[in-house]
Amino acid sequence: EHEKQTLGFQAEVKQLLQLMIHSLYSNKEIFLRELISNASDAADKLRFEAINNASLFENDADLKIKVSFDKEARTITIADNGIGMTRDEAVLHLGTIAKSGTKEFFGKLSGDQQKDAAMIGQFGVGFYSGFIVADKITVESRRAGTSAAEGVRWESAGEGDFSVEAIDKADRGTSITLHLREGEDEFLSSWKLKSVIRTYSDHISLPILMQKEEWDEEKKAQVLKDELETVNQASALWARSKSDITPEQYEEFYKHVSHDFQAPLTYTHNRVEGRSEYTQLLFIPSRAPFDMWDRNKRGGIKLYVKRVFIMDDAEQLMPVYLRFVKGVIDSNDLPLNVSREILQESRDIKAIREGSTKRVLGMLEELANADEQEKKDKYATFWTEFGQVLKEGIGEDATNKERLAKLLRFASTHNDSDAQTVSLADYLSRAKEGQDKIYYVTADSYIAAKNSPHLEIFRKKGVEVLLLTDRVDEWMLSFLTDFEGKELASVAKGDLDLGKLEDEAEKKQHEATETEFKDLVEKMKTALADKAKDVRVTFRLTDSPACLVADENELSGNLVRMLKAAGQ
Ligand code: ADP
Ligand code: MG
Repeated sequence: EHEKQTLGFQAEVKQLLQLMIHSLYSNKEIFLRELISNASDAADKLRFEAINNASLFENDADLKIKVSFDKEARTITIADNGIGMTRDEAVLHLGTIAKSGTKEFFGKLSGDQQKDAAMIGQFGVGFYSGFIVADKITVESRRAGTSAAEGVRWESAGEGDFSVEAIDKADRGTSITLHLREGEDEFLSSWKLKSVIRTYSDHISLPILMQKEEWDEEKKAQVLKDELETVNQASALWARSKSDITPEQYEEFYKHVSHDFQAPLTYTHNRVEGRSEYTQLLFIPSRAPFDMWDRNKRGGIKLYVKRVFIMDDAEQLMPVYLRFVKGVIDSNDLPLNVSREILQESRDIKAIREGSTKRVLGMLEELANADEQEKKDKYATFWTEFGQVLKEGIGEDATNKERLAKLLRFASTHNDSDAQTVSLADYLSRAKEGQDKIYYVTADSYIAAKNSPHLEIFRKKGVEVLLLTDRVDEWMLSFLTDFEGKELASVAKGDLDLGKLEDEAEKKQHEATETEFKDLVEKMKTALADKAKDVRVTFRLTDSPACLVADENELSGNLVRMLKAAGQ
């Protein structure tokens, strides 16, 4: 096993490499952000493992990242003293893509480079982005706690395969050397590297060190000194005061914690004091991840305790219906050795979850209720991307049901479009004099909803009806029975009672008609005895001769169709 071994990349890695090199070239300096981000993650992991095993520090607990370059050799090296990798880990982590839903993601690629380039951002690019500027990458690593002889060298030209061999490595951690492609020499400069680091990685909480550079009178050139300097601010971004953080720094931090490529839609940053003390920095992405419906997907919140990273998928920190929220929560109260089991029971965690849920809803309300067009547009984007997930909250979060109901948006007969833009408050502001219900119809498509014969009488009377077509709607409606004292009523159910919307003359005329058709109705009831529960004269139709309705207490036609489709 000391021999050099050549292995093939997983098929998806090859695809990713091809796509990345071509589609991300215009943004090539992001490779440095990705490699520094990995070094920072490696330091977080070491600190966490060392909580219970301080010997992993090997007398070097001063975690840092060093970036250097060699003009002659045309290489850039990013070195860390984090957790490191064993040979097996290097093969696994740098030869395959472990993300959930990888296959599905690649299945969605169209082959059209422009479209695919937009998608790749959602996937997160990571380590392989080094190949945008390098035609060979050499990784040398040794895992914390293993002996110097257990180092590994991984090397690849980013085509079909990579090699691994055993090496001696005195110091723990990972160093990654990029052998630059022809034409990428601009990165062989202190000034360039520092400016890229300050742009993308200033928020990293470890010091990022580079050799100092000084003007040499004799050589008439800048020369590198042995002395190192720290290039970034090197303090946890969320622990800094808000006024010291620029929007760009928030954005880059978001990309680091979320592995997203796009800017977030919005964020909230607060220090909470009181019974439970913690800092929260929470972001709403601008696009739903490709695996949002993956039920095994973990939460997007990183938990820190007094700046020490604890875990990045603590589900207890956010309710399931807010699973799209990304960010960091740093608690001052939890013990450093907190386990998943303790989290389940913890009252502090419960308080954090409740507080964070309120913050997220507040952030959404701020967009939803804003007067500025920019914020309104952001809410519309949010609703398109995450509205269906937020609807789950109506059933899951009884405490915040009212607030959630105000955030809902629907398509409606008021607009001639399937865009979901109408709130329940908008609906009520347009209600007719005497209208005491919020009317809706459910269907499996916008066209079917819009053309439902049940709407005829409402059109005639000029009463607005909400058009509900998302899969989750029927389920949500079983929890959302009223809003601000007005009942939500299906236009397709039972004995449609238009209440005060009918005037006295209409009521008299209806009674007369019912008497007139009494015999016919009786005959039809007999004829349809085994097909229909009841036959009634209706006034809800204006063009269609007849329609089917569900009984008040029964499943609606649409739900019955859904259950049948699901094989029930
Ligand atoms: P991600 O960071 O999203 O997991 P990457 O492609 O950036 O994906 O990295 C893949 C994996 O390689 C990491 O999850 C980690 O296990 C390993 N890795 C990369 N860089 C380092 C490093 N500097 N130290 C230790 N492990 C690393
Ligand atoms: Mg990474």
